[in-house]
Amino acid sequence: MQQKPTQLDRPLTVGILALQGAYEAHAKTLQSLGVTTKLIRTPGELTALDGKPTVDGLIIPGGESTTMLKFLERNQFLDVLTTFVQHTPTFGTCAGAILLAKDVQQPAQTSLAAMDITVERNAYGRQIDSAILTAPTKLEGAPLEMVFIRAPRITRTGPHVETLATRDGFPVLVREGHLLAATFHPELSSDTRVHQLFLNLISQNLIRKNAPALAETPQAQPH
Ligand code: GLN
Repeated sequence: MQQKPTQLDRPLTVGILALQGAYEAHAKTLQSLGVTTKLIRTPGELTALDGKPTVDGLIIPGGESTTMLKFLERNQFLDVLTTFVQHTPTFGTCAGAILLAKDVQQPAQTSLAAMDITVERNAYGRQIDSAILTAPTKLEGAPLEMVFIRAPRITRTGPHVETLATRDGFPVLVREGHLLAATFHPELSSDTRVHQLFLNLISQNLIRKNAPALAETPQAQPH
């Protein structure tokens, strides 16, 4: 597979949690961007015995957050993932965004409690109310196509959370430090800008770890 060099001059490896849901589409998008992907189904595939992450970043896909939690509650996977997301770039889409949120409502549910947001599940109604919208965002370029499928609604963002896109005044794409969350499904559109944003976030994180001073260069993603 062809690898594109990053700012670090080495290819990135991005894990995709593959317990359930739309993980294959994320893998295809990342592969089209020249990234090595690794499907993650066990805690050992995410974190090595010495506690180090085996991947540079992780995508938690859309699907059904309750079902994913059931799988995660085996083999201490939830604990391993909770620790992982505290330090390693992670992008949650839809159900993945629900898992990343500090506070989950309607109904309340366990989460990784990593991102300072509150989400209401299925806030736009039932499956029939799923929608495709095209709207301006803070990303460079044209308005972005956003596919919503039984999407949650982000009803609160903490002070360090940046909103990059909204729907009806509610955030739908948010970033907090090394974490990114979308209540829509960017892997189902041909536009790869959201995945590219996540890859930039991973590169930034690696540069910061390897050479903290370099992270302040103009290539840094805006906060
Ligand atoms: N409604 C789902 C949940 O609560 C999320 C839907 C999705 O990921 N497309 O987990």
